Amino acid sequence: MAKQEDIFKNVVSHAKEYGFIFPSSEVYDGLSAVYDYAQNGVELKKNIREYWWKAMVQMNDNIVGLDAAILMHPTTWKASGHVDAFNDPLIDNKDSKRRYRADVLIEDYAEKLNQKAVKEIEKAKVRFGDAFNEAEFVATNARVVEYKAKERAILERMARSLGNEDLADVKALIEELEIACPESGSRNWTEVRQFNLMFGTKLGASADSAMDLYLRPETAQGIFVNFLNVQKSGRMKIPFGIAQTGKAFRNEIVARQFIFRMREFEQMEMQFFVRPGEEMKHYEFWKEARLKWHLSLGLGRENYRFHDHEKLAHYANAAADIEFNFPFGFKELEGIHSRTDFDLKAHEQYSGRKLQYFDAELNQNYVPYVVETSVGLDRMFLAVFATSLKEETLEDGSTRTVLKLPTVLAPTKAAVLPLVKKDGLPEIAHQIIADLRWDFNVAYDEKDAVGRRYRRQDALGTPFCITVDHQTVEDQTVTIRHRDTMKQDRVKITDLKSIIENEVSMKNWLMKM
Ligand code: ATP
Repeated sequence: MAKQEDIFKNVVSHAKEYGFIFPSSEVYDGLSAVYDYAQNGVELKKNIREYWWKAMVQMNDNIVGLDAAILMHPTTWKASGHVDAFNDPLIDNKDSKRRYRADVLIEDYAEKLNQKAVKEIEKAKVRFGDAFNEAEFVATNARVVEYKAKERAILERMARSLGNEDLADVKALIEELEIACPESGSRNWTEVRQFNLMFGTKLGASADSAMDLYLRPETAQGIFVNFLNVQKSGRMKIPFGIAQTGKAFRNEIVARQFIFRMREFEQMEMQFFVRPGEEMKHYEFWKEARLKWHLSLGLGRENYRFHDHEKLAHYANAAADIEFNFPFGFKELEGIHSRTDFDLKAHEQYSGRKLQYFDAELNQNYVPYVVETSVGLDRMFLAVFATSLKEETLEDGSTRTVLKLPTVLAPTKAAVLPLVKKDGLPEIAHQIIADLRWDFNVAYDEKDAVGRRYRRQDALGTPFCITVDHQTVEDQTVTIRHRDTMKQDRVKITDLKSIIENEVSMKNWLMKM
C-alpha cells in the first residue's frame, strides 16, 4: 500500500496537473499557505458551496443567508475577544529552526496513543471474530485501558495549562513526553509563547488619520452584528439561523499541509439563535444534522468521527469537531459550537446598543444563545478530492487514475467526444453540448484516441463520457460511458438529459440525508 506521504504528494500534484489548485503567485515562487483555485477547482469548490447552501439555507424555512463585508469596524474584534485571545501557542526548535504549534505537537502525540489502542482493537477483532465484544474489550484490556488513560491525561493537562495561560507547563509537558521535532528529531525547544493570528491592515489615505483594521479571522462576527437587522427586516422568530460563506484570514504559525491550513481561506458558517437554556438541544441536533450532511456525499462513515473539546474557547459552553480522515490522519473538518450569549452580549456592551429579541410566547426580552456550525470550504475540498483520487488496476493489468468525486460535485458532468474529427461527428457533438449546457457543465474533447480521452476525463472526475460515432448519424444514439464502472450503454440523444440528471441532481443526493 502507498505510504501516507506519497498519497498526499500525489493529491497535491494531481490538483496542479489537472487544473484544480495552483500555488498563489507561482511565477514569484509562490506565497506560503496561499493557493489559487484553477479552472476545474473553482467548479468543484462552487459545487461544494452550493451543496452546503442548498442544505442549510434553501431547505430550511428558518435559516436565511447573508454576505457581510470582510472589513469590519475594529471594535468588533475587541468585543469578540479576538484582539486579546485569538492566539496560538507557538514553539520553535532551536536546531531545525522549525516553528510548531505547541498544542498540535501534543495532540499528535496523544493521537499516536489512540492509534495504538485502535490497533489492539483491530487485532482482537480478527482474533475473536463474531464473538468480539468491542465495548467490553475496550473497558478491560490492560493495554487499551492504559493507552486511553494516558491519552486522556495528556489532553486534560494540556487543556488545563492552556486554559490557565500556564505556558511553562505546556513546555514541561512537551519535555516530559520527550516530543521531538518531526523534522530533525531534536528536543532542543524554545519557550512556548502566544501569537495573535489576526492580519492587521489600514483604512484611510494619510498615515496620521488611518484607522487600524483587521481582516476578519472568522465570518461569524458579520452575522452577530447583523443579528437584529436580519431578525427585524425578515421578521424572524426564534429559533432561526443566519448562514454565510466567505473568506477569512489567519496568520497561521504552521502552514505546511496544502489547503488544510491556509492563511486565506473560506468558511461556511451558520449561527442558530435560540432561547437561553435550550441551547444543548439545538447543539445535539446540529451535531447530528451536520454529520448526516457529510455522510450524504458517500465518502465512507469510517472516515468521520466526533471529537468533543476538552479545552473550550472563551465563548463556548460545549464544542465538538467533526474530524475527517485526511491523508495525514484524522483532523478537524467542521466545528459545532454552543457559543452561549457571549458574542451578542459583548457587542451590546461595546456598542451600547441593545441586541435583544422579544419572545412573544414568553412575553420576555432576552439576548439569544447561539449554536454555530462552521466548516472550512477548502478543507471540504481537500477531504472530497483526496478521498476520491484512486489508482485502479484493471482486469487487463493496466492501471488508471480516476477521481471518483461524488457526481453531484464533479466540475464537469459530461464530456462529449466525437469518435473522429470528420464525417459530421463534431457537428453532432457540438449540437449535444448546445442542448446539455443549459442544465449541466459539459465539455467538448476531440483530441487523441478515445481511450486516452476517457482517461483524461477519469482523472478530472467527469462522471459521463458521451461518444458520437458513425451510428449516431444513422439513428441518433450515442454511447454513454460511466466513470466508475467504465460500463458503456447505447442510448438515445434525447434521453441524455434525464440520465445525467438522475445521477447528478442535488435533490437525489440530499434526499439520502
Ligand atoms: P484548527 O484547530 O485546525 O486551527 P480551528 O478550531 O481554529 O481549526 P475554527 O475556528 O473552529 O477552526 O474554524 C472553523 C472551520 O474553519 C474549521 O473547522 C476549518 O474547517 C476551517 N479553518 C480554520 N482555520 C483554517 C485554515 N487556516 N485554513 C483552512 N481552513 C480553516
